[in-house]
Amino acid sequence: MSGFAMTDRNIRKILIAGGGTAGWMTAAALAKIFRERGCRIQLVESEEIGTVGVGEATIPQVQLYNRLLGLDEDDFLRRTRGTFKLGIQFVDWYRKGSSYTHAFGEVGRDMEAIPFYHYWLKEHLAGRAGAIGDYTLAALAAQQGKFMRSIDAGNSPLSNIVYAFHFDAALYARYLREFAEQRGVVRTEGRIRRTNLNPHNGFIESVALESGESIGADLFIDCTGFRGLLVGEALGVGYEDWRHWLPCDRAWAVPCESAGDPVPYTRSTARPAGWQWRIPLQHRTGNGHVYSSRFMDDGEARDMLLQNLDGAPLAEPKLLKFTTGKRRKFWHRNCVAIGLASGFMEPLESTSIHLVQSAIARLLTLFPNRHFDVEDIDEYNRQTHFEMDRIRDFLILHYCATERDDSEFWRYCRTMELPETLLQKIGQFRKNGRIVRVDGELFNELSWMEVMVGQGIIPQSYHPLVDVMPDEMLAARMAEIKSVIDRSVEAMPAHSEFIAKHCARPTEEG
Ligand SMILES: Cc1cc2nc3c(=O)[nH]c(=O)nc-3n(C[C@H](O)[C@H](O)[C@H](O)COP(=O)(O)OP(=O)(O)OC[C@H]3O[C@@H](n4cnc5c(N)ncnc54)[C@H](O)[C@@H]3O)c2cc1C
Repeated sequence: MSGFAMTDRNIRKILIAGGGTAGWMTAAALAKIFRERGCRIQLVESEEIGTVGVGEATIPQVQLYNRLLGLDEDDFLRRTRGTFKLGIQFVDWYRKGSSYTHAFGEVGRDMEAIPFYHYWLKEHLAGRAGAIGDYTLAALAAQQGKFMRSIDAGNSPLSNIVYAFHFDAALYARYLREFAEQRGVVRTEGRIRRTNLNPHNGFIESVALESGESIGADLFIDCTGFRGLLVGEALGVGYEDWRHWLPCDRAWAVPCESAGDPVPYTRSTARPAGWQWRIPLQHRTGNGHVYSSRFMDDGEARDMLLQNLDGAPLAEPKLLKFTTGKRRKFWHRNCVAIGLASGFMEPLESTSIHLVQSAIARLLTLFPNRHFDVEDIDEYNRQTHFEMDRIRDFLILHYCATERDDSEFWRYCRTMELPETLLQKIGQFRKNGRIVRVDGELFNELSWMEVMVGQGIIPQSYHPLVDVMPDEMLAARMAEIKSVIDRSVEAMPAHSEFIAKHCARPTEEG
């Protein structure tokens, strides 16, 4: 990368290969940041190849991305037929007939600087408290089909409602494309046939399209999906396979008619060789059956999905094949892989769109000049590995902590060897209810606690300072917290009412 004057080291051109959710999210964010800063952004995509077209549930952090773009939330929801998401309900995961919610936001109310759930644990262990979800505003609101945004209500739980979205993936990509194009991103339709490397340093110089056109850039973002056309095929960066920990490697996806008002949560139901999602949108319901091809064949998996829909299917089911895992490097030379090209950990906790957004944020923090300092690249890769490894552990937790032994798949999951980092977390929680997180882990203490408890891991003990509170006082305060939460949920409008008032899709459209 020599030969440039010291005064002109800035990246002048970025090429984004791929126009799925990752490509357009990246294009929109970069367009917003780089508009009028002398850096051109071009995106190449191939309609003939298409996108995976799934990815319709998010986690609350997506609001940071929307804020970066300056989106109007109601407009975004109207345009993408979106609904609100207060958490994920897990059905039949711990054992058949069981159900719990990984709900967003506060659980109970912390007392004397100790997390509420430690008090709950004491009462639960003594047989005096119901399920943890009974003390969680988002879990109760989800069950009752209620939703509203936070209001300024002082100490009330209604001042702190944490939520994410469900949306139509195709409409979302279209929405972001419009945003990006309005801010100067140039879109080129075409299939990339070849990637040209600089023979001296191995950096990517250009991509050649089937049309014969060649497009050069300083920085290349690989958003070409599972294939990883630039990072994998051209630069030869390998892939770490995690199927021994996350054995699901296929999914059938199909939309169906809604069977009533959309509920404000994703439902995940465990199946004999995987699980099924249900994602309610304004105009339809998204469904998918994620399964392990080692334990179930495609035909059986497809039938199982079609037999378990709330309404009539609206399309032919689509089969998606993937390998759970991650790239050995996410940024190599002048190429950064974002989206499925960087890895995929299956959709159980809706983390992929978040990973796209955190990759964009990390890239902006460590944004290179044309010298591509190796220290920045190493740091980017270190942070990304850490983030993905910890999310992987959280996902594995759902599979390994189960009493289910009614199929070969579940027998495999409950006896598989676990990563040391996960074993430590489970071990410590089991002992005294503590969750030890290292800085920068995506899922917070409450998420870990909700899933551990939901999956049947009940600690033997709780924070010792809980005993400082006299038993009668604790019982009274628990009852008061429960009553405040119940009354708050009662005061919330129905989810469908909230949508109708704020962000309903235009009626003239389908
Ligand atoms: C079954 C399943 C369910 C999922 N559910 C969720 C979820 O609920 N929540 C969530 O956050 N995420 C979910 N995801 C992940 C989410 O779908 C992806 O993270 C997201 O769609 C981003 O995909 P992508 O843009 O990286 O890849 P793709 O959508 O595959 O896009 C790749 C792009 O590259 C282009 N391309 C490829 N090759 C070439 C070429 N040679 N020339 C030109 N262009 C090319 C394609 O045309 C396309 O535009 C799910 C994924 C799967 C598989």
